[in-house]
Amino acid sequence: MVAKAITAAAIGINSCKIEVEVDTTQSLPNISVVGLPDNSVNEARERVRSAIKNSGFSFPTGKVIVNLAPADIRKEGTHFDLPIAIGILKEQGINIPDDLNTAFLGELSLDGALRYVNGVLPLVSGLKDAGISTVFVPEENAKEAALVQGINVFGAKFLGDIVAHFTDTPIQKTTVDINKYLEENADTDYTYDFKDVKGQQKAKKALEIAAAGGHNLLMSGSPGSGKTLMAKCLASILPPLELQEALELTKIYSICGLLNSDKPLVTKRPYRAVHHTASKNGIIGGGTNPRPGEITLAHRGVLFLDEMAEFERQTLEVLRQPLEDGDVVISRTKNSIKYPAKFMLVGAMNPCPCGFLGDKEKECTCSEFQIQRYRSKLSGPLLDRIDLIVNVPRLTTDELINTKTESEPSSEIQKRVIRARKIQAKRYEQEGILTNSELSGKQIKKYCKLDEKTESFLKLATQKYQLSGRKYDRILKLARTIADLSEKENIEMADITQALQYKVDMI
Ligand SMILES: [Zn+2]
Repeated sequence: MVAKAITAAAIGINSCKIEVEVDTTQSLPNISVVGLPDNSVNEARERVRSAIKNSGFSFPTGKVIVNLAPADIRKEGTHFDLPIAIGILKEQGINIPDDLNTAFLGELSLDGALRYVNGVLPLVSGLKDAGISTVFVPEENAKEAALVQGINVFGAKFLGDIVAHFTDTPIQKTTVDINKYLEENADTDYTYDFKDVKGQQKAKKALEIAAAGGHNLLMSGSPGSGKTLMAKCLASILPPLELQEALELTKIYSICGLLNSDKPLVTKRPYRAVHHTASKNGIIGGGTNPRPGEITLAHRGVLFLDEMAEFERQTLEVLRQPLEDGDVVISRTKNSIKYPAKFMLVGAMNPCPCGFLGDKEKECTCSEFQIQRYRSKLSGPLLDRIDLIVNVPRLTTDELINTKTESEPSSEIQKRVIRARKIQAKRYEQEGILTNSELSGKQIKKYCKLDEKTESFLKLATQKYQLSGRKYDRILKLARTIADLSEKENIEMADITQALQYKVDMI
């Protein structure tokens, strides 16, 4: 008799249903796994054998063949231990209902205990979409699995508990209140607040616009101008996560094993600061065991690159495709995986190698050639993808002493950002996007219409500054956000003028 158990295999942040088939033959004792298993699945053989024996069940005396179907999907991860063990127990005649609407996920330790596994949310989510009604997971993964609505979740401590569930000791179902997680965990206590940043009105406005429309931004300024501090303050004005965004992020963090098993929902917009020595794989994702990189961990949040001109040019160049497409494709030997990567790129750099070009008090010691070489680290196509470029001058000693009034607190700025985001979400309800920065060429034509006078003004400006077609579109998107911040229905001349300022600042 062939016994069956249902489980899932991860594909990027999605998954598909997998059928585990177990058969035994009278042959030399052995256990073999077929159906494109990787090493972690192959190792299941030893863990499953010990776990079954140490849970007080007998293990087949002959040869055990485990087939994972469909065979063309690569199976990775230690969560195949449990469905393989369930299949073997069923084959041995243990009383587990032959119900193919019930799935199993979990790693087994040698004593039969169930261990936490990564990627449970995407796995269970895929199973629910495949019509599965019940899932058994390790107890520590139960709350995470229960984030998927409409599927029964049972968390077990031991393999034996699952067998007992079907005979005399039922396990209690796990349920969670997602909205409560979202409300309780929404963190409003930020370390860095704009009220502590003196002056810099233009840069602050640029950050507000960036946060409101999800635009990429670059700040150029001397050391001590406060650009890094302002970038850190950005986290305090970003809007709270919507439930859909929170679930998307939780899937990513689940795959990377970065969730808190007690409060598994990611409720804070990510803010990832990356150092210029970080590897290309670390930023983009990949490596021998491909994992999402920083750009995916920054999905729906901020990727901050301090000292942007110090990064390897090659590392910066690979950001171009994800910045354009909102996702990243990671190639592997046999296939490739797509991860989401809709992040706001925020960069900070000095205006020149010594850092004091344009400073009011210190003199720049760089040659024209050195300045050109330094700036050329950021290629034209990369700069094209940055919507706002803003100079952040260092305040003079006098300005620092004389600016005594406290600045506007982040909480006030955030209110405007939230309002502008709501306007966008409503406008793009049917488009499947949330912010102006995501507008496609066709959508720009539809939503960023200009009156005749404003349009001819923008055309003249693009000729004067020799702006590319891509830049023209980005100015329109930026102007749309500036208009949304003032709650204006149409983009006006003043919005275009302001958008142009941020686009041609460093040219
Ligand atoms: Zn210099």
